[in-house]
Amino acid sequence: MHANRDLVEKRIQRELWERVLPLVHPHQLQLTIEAGPDVEHLEPFVAGSSWGAPWATTWFRLTGEIPADWAGQRVEAVVDLGFHDRAAGFQCEGLVVDLHDDGTFSPLQGIHPRRTNYAVDAIPGPLTLHVEAASNPMFAQFAPSSLGSPDTAGDRQLYRFKRASLVVVDPAAEALAYDIEVLDGVMRSLALDDPRRARLLRTLADTLDRIPDIDAASGIIAPAMAEDFGDAVRHRSVAVGHAHIDTAWLWPIRETKRKCTRTFASAVALMDDYPEYVFAASSAQHYTWIEERHPELFAKIVERVERGQWMPVGGMWVESDMNLPSGESLVRQIVFGQRYFEEKFGMRCTEVWIPDVFGYPAGLPQVFAAGGMDRFVTQKLSWNKQNTFPHSTFWWEGLDGSRVLTHFPPVDTYNAEITPDEFGFSITNFKDHAWSTDSLMPFGHGDGGGGPTREMLERARRLAHIESRATLEVGAPDAMFGRIERTIDAGAPAPVWRGELYFETHRGTLTSQIETKLGNRRCERLLVEAELWAATLGRTADVDHLWKEVLTQQFHDILPGSSIAWAHDDAEAVFAEVGAELETRIASLLVDATGSGTWLANRADVGVDEVVVLDAALAGEHVQTLADGRSAARVRVAALGVGELETLAVDDRVVLSDSSMTNGHLAVRWDAAGNITSIIDLEHAREVVPVGQHMATLELAVDQPVEYDAWDLESWTRAGGTPITVADRVAVVDDGPLVGRVEVTRTFGPSTATVTYELRAGTPQLDVHVAFDWHHDEHLLSMAFPLDVRSDVAMCDIQFGVVARPTHPSSPWDAAKFEVCAHRFVDIAEPEFGVAILNAGRYGHGVFDGAVRVSLAKAANYPDPNADRGHHEITLAIRPHAGGLAEVRAAAARLNSPPRIVSGGTAATAAQPVVRISGADGAPAPGVEVDAIKLADDGSGDLIVRFHEALGNRTRVSVATPARVTDAWRCNLLEEHETGEEVGDGVVTLILRPFQIVTLRLARSSSDDGRTR
Ligand SMILES: [Zn+2]
Repeated sequence: MHANRDLVEKRIQRELWERVLPLVHPHQLQLTIEAGPDVEHLEPFVAGSSWGAPWATTWFRLTGEIPADWAGQRVEAVVDLGFHDRAAGFQCEGLVVDLHDDGTFSPLQGIHPRRTNYAVDAIPGPLTLHVEAASNPMFAQFAPSSLGSPDTAGDRQLYRFKRASLVVVDPAAEALAYDIEVLDGVMRSLALDDPRRARLLRTLADTLDRIPDIDAASGIIAPAMAEDFGDAVRHRSVAVGHAHIDTAWLWPIRETKRKCTRTFASAVALMDDYPEYVFAASSAQHYTWIEERHPELFAKIVERVERGQWMPVGGMWVESDMNLPSGESLVRQIVFGQRYFEEKFGMRCTEVWIPDVFGYPAGLPQVFAAGGMDRFVTQKLSWNKQNTFPHSTFWWEGLDGSRVLTHFPPVDTYNAEITPDEFGFSITNFKDHAWSTDSLMPFGHGDGGGGPTREMLERARRLAHIESRATLEVGAPDAMFGRIERTIDAGAPAPVWRGELYFETHRGTLTSQIETKLGNRRCERLLVEAELWAATLGRTADVDHLWKEVLTQQFHDILPGSSIAWAHDDAEAVFAEVGAELETRIASLLVDATGSGTWLANRADVGVDEVVVLDAALAGEHVQTLADGRSAARVRVAALGVGELETLAVDDRVVLSDSSMTNGHLAVRWDAAGNITSIIDLEHAREVVPVGQHMATLELAVDQPVEYDAWDLESWTRAGGTPITVADRVAVVDDGPLVGRVEVTRTFGPSTATVTYELRAGTPQLDVHVAFDWHHDEHLLSMAFPLDVRSDVAMCDIQFGVVARPTHPSSPWDAAKFEVCAHRFVDIAEPEFGVAILNAGRYGHGVFDGAVRVSLAKAANYPDPNADRGHHEITLAIRPHAGGLAEVRAAAARLNSPPRIVSGGTAATAAQPVVRISGADGAPAPGVEVDAIKLADDGSGDLIVRFHEALGNRTRVSVATPARVTDAWRCNLLEEHETGEEVGDGVVTLILRPFQIVTLRLARSSSDDGRTR
């Protein structure tokens, strides 16, 4: 026998396709097809014809006759809607339905590109099937397309119906085909000099020699398939069925509801045949759609959950983005998710499941653990463009020291197909063989692919023991995590990764689709505010349904800005509607919380005593009317409270010339083109602007990512900005004494911007308002703040704390962080002096090269060719300060939550702040941030106060309410008691660890209703 490995390997591939697979369907016949827009209007249709305008629905009726001699055999309908074979999902899909007399239907099973068969009972006689088909367009990767909005999609038919037939399945031939495919894959995954490889090659050749005698061929291959490496095996892979369904992306939410129906129906339909099969599905929102639309399918899911075959995972409302939502939004994702799973399935999830999210901030481990999930699954960091993450399984330690057991499935995908090749890769790619033997393999086609297939499950059975390095079992993530936890309990040295899991790609998602992000940020604030004022009045806010609407739009392709136009139009409409509803409710609550006269309501967790600009024409002393009709005045109002609007005297004034603006704290100078050349902090005698540079400069850079246009922002784009220093007009529009404002208008190519510098008397902060009409293509617009301050790190505001990022690209890990997320401020500081750049609505920041650059706008062409073009307004601010971040955090809170004016109040006495949080000496505790104040969800009337230490200090806080606190408990995020807290004289005193989140439940005496004058 001479060496002919190459030739035999080619032979196996060809003969499997051309000689073995045809034996699987020994008999077939064509079905008769009718098609139409609904079942009442069906017309004859022939295979090969086109169908399906973009986003339309087409009904197909398939009829035929099962011959008498097929009785008792395995019979399947095969329906190919004209699937493109290059993708498992992302295109047309069908749903086989049980059509009822009243026109409604129950879903039976999806028809997907790689799941075209539907099993039918082999009863001789007539057969009718109804298929509802959706002609969702495919999008060519990274190419601009008009298909993403119904307004521009047109009505060209997109698909050509390929086939509708009935087939008899020969189970022995089918099993033989699976055997050959799997053994061939295992053989190819072995090293060329592995003796087993040559043996398996010979077995495969001998098997093919017997074709078409199926029994004889099966007899040859059987001993090799039965090889069992049993105890010699070291690694264990748990394969869990899954279908990653994006809540919106290259389709709108309308279609996601149907994708969930098809996929969930398909997932259930395999469970009887494969009792070992477990399907994991996340996102409470997806389940609610099934529950509302198809209760009979939902009932099947409930039954499978009870049997352990269907596994709700993730404990969240949707698989939301993690960088952009507020901390409180992340909490509510978990609260509403866990409550739903508990209510419907009697279980809470123990693992966070967000395999496809674009980076994981350092505050998350604490949030996950406080929501009952101390296990975490993702694989997205396998997409890192620069550095390879060193672990597959590890403790992820957050800002406060909380840890969650984290696993990155080493197959590096959440859409595995359980091929021998993938299985081999998942073994060699696993990075923790030294101490762990367990890994996860999520398998199944996502996004319209219909999840796991029969082929995958057959391969799983065959791969269970015939790999010499590992076993494969189909099961739930819990099985894997449980084994890892036992290994760690027995002393295995699991590695620890401390701090954020920065994602080294998709940095543009911090910036894309400005209005979607602004809408979310506004609604997040209004939701918390509505709860605050309702609690202040002793009422339940009744905003859970509005929270859920907002949480859905935080999904990891909507809020990041990576969806088609349709999805973003939908999101912005939701935010507008929810925002308007909340404004109405807040106005009504504040009328009840105030008396006659004019009041200020301060939702911020810091008090206000400074000059503010109010949207009203005020009269009287100490008021400056601005050129735009608004009023500036110094006002005072407590944190989280209301106060009568009084305009106070100011012992400072803003003095302007045509090139300078000064108050008692800052002296600002600009040149003839409106470029700021100097900002001197008078108190600290420091120049903020480096010599020869300009502050708050617009920069324009070509932004053409290598791929993923809306998602990505490349290092050369971040570094390649050209400053825009020519002005059309520079004008002082308000000249003090309380507010000075200078307007600079600039035109650059097709776009224009008006930048307004605003200095207020008494405040060491220069506000920078940017209003811009953005009409560039594929460009990044930034604002650069070069700072004459030296530090190796920039402190960035994130959810539940601050995180240090490098200001230099020294190591490869540092260099990858050329664009980072910050919520309300980025601060660069020396020990005794620093400068913070505040913002009220942007997230992407570059902090290299001695400057902070705020990314204002991208202009991607894919997937939304008109993304971000139009008018936008953003407010930023420059705030020099002494050491520490307390003042910066307070200023950022005020910038993002300015007080609102209330008049026409109906209360006899105004409401006091519902809670007072103070530091050790009774003074405000500026490093303690309040996240939520609300009545408890259990209807007890208890007050829930969630707050956290935001700056990294260990700090003592006292919590008091106007009505005396009688009992207090620390709770988890779900408001369940964990520990009782001592109450002394109606006050609760706690010591917070750095970055600790506390959810406090307060029972209060009922004798005092909280109102005093
Ligand atoms: Zn996704």
